[in-house]
Amino acid sequence: MYSDTRKLIVFSAPSGSGKTTIVRHLLEKTNLPLAFSVSATTRLPRGAEKDAEDYYFLSVSEFKRRIEKGDFIEWEEVYPGVYYGTLASEIERIWKSKKAVLFDIDVDGGLALKRQFREQTLTVFVRPPSVEALRQRLIDRQTDSTDQVEVRVAKAEAELKKASDFDQILINDVLENALKDAEHLVANFLNS
Ligand code: 5GP
Repeated sequence: MYSDTRKLIVFSAPSGSGKTTIVRHLLEKTNLPLAFSVSATTRLPRGAEKDAEDYYFLSVSEFKRRIEKGDFIEWEEVYPGVYYGTLASEIERIWKSKKAVLFDIDVDGGLALKRQFREQTLTVFVRPPSVEALRQRLIDRQTDSTDQVEVRVAKAEAELKKASDFDQILINDVLENALKDAEHLVANFLNS
């Protein structure tokens, strides 16, 4: 049905916008030929997160060694002292399985992928209805301290300014609608 799955689909958004829920829905509740790009990070696992499923959890020295080896397609110090990056081997692994690669990465990382794989990439910016709604979602999630919530909100405000650089903007107000919209955007891109 899909002739060419050597494609990248990037969902970026301020943390707390509901992007991870949308990405999980696409992977688990649709028949779209997608696989998740597992990023590397130096942050510690949260809750039930598993190594090699949610992230490859690396030490800072290992992460830096792999930067020097040229293993990353893109990487960033997303928060001071905390590194995140996409390994080139992830994309090859997923393309070999005849699936398109689905990313849940930050805004600058998403735009970096677009620059490298222009025609093959769909970038979607997931927008929360407001900054206040975003702050409330982060508080309700109870995974970050008050200080960390404010760090994430400050980063979100900077990221919202870059929404117009994306191919598509998806407003996540009513989740059910956002999930349907995401499915349509991805299916259309895979059929193009
Ligand atoms: P979290 O710590 O909440 O899992 O992720 C923090 C931020 O890092 C999120 O915005 C997430 O999308 C981003 N992120 C996750 N993986 C990558 C990656 O491989 N590259 C970049 N640039 N950002 C990433």
